[in-house]
Amino acid sequence: MSETAPGAADCLFCKIIAGDVPADVVHETDTTVAFRDIDPQAPTHVLVIPKRHEPDLVALATADPGAATDVLRAVGDVAAQEQLGEGYRSVFNTGALAQQSVFHAHVHVLGGRAMTWPPG
Ligand code: AMP
Repeated sequence: MSETAPGAADCLFCKIIAGDVPADVVHETDTTVAFRDIDPQAPTHVLVIPKRHEPDLVALATADPGAATDVLRAVGDVAAQEQLGEGYRSVFNTGALAQQSVFHAHVHVLGGRAMTWPPG
């Protein structure tokens, strides 16, 4: 099952991994879970998360590079599964100033509409 770090007990995404909080799971591997965002910002909005609790993707890559690679591979699998071949955006908000609200590493996979740049 999931590999959790001390202090992860109150983590919402750890609870989703454990099945204690329901989620619309669309993809799962030994090391990752992907589920639909509860407040979608695009026709497709999926969150890909590692089962290992780390506060953000850089921390995950530092602690376990293989797990970070697994997350990125899962992003590709989800994009293919969701038929986002025309293009999609992968976002990882890091830190409060960047609007990170859940401090368990995750990638937003957004697609199904044209994106704008720069992001807000
Ligand atoms: P961030 O703001 O980058 O930390 O992203 C956290 C995301 O988690 C937000 O887009 C929320 O809408 C989403 N979220 C919060 N609670 C849930 C939940 N129970 N199920 C699915 N997505 C959630």
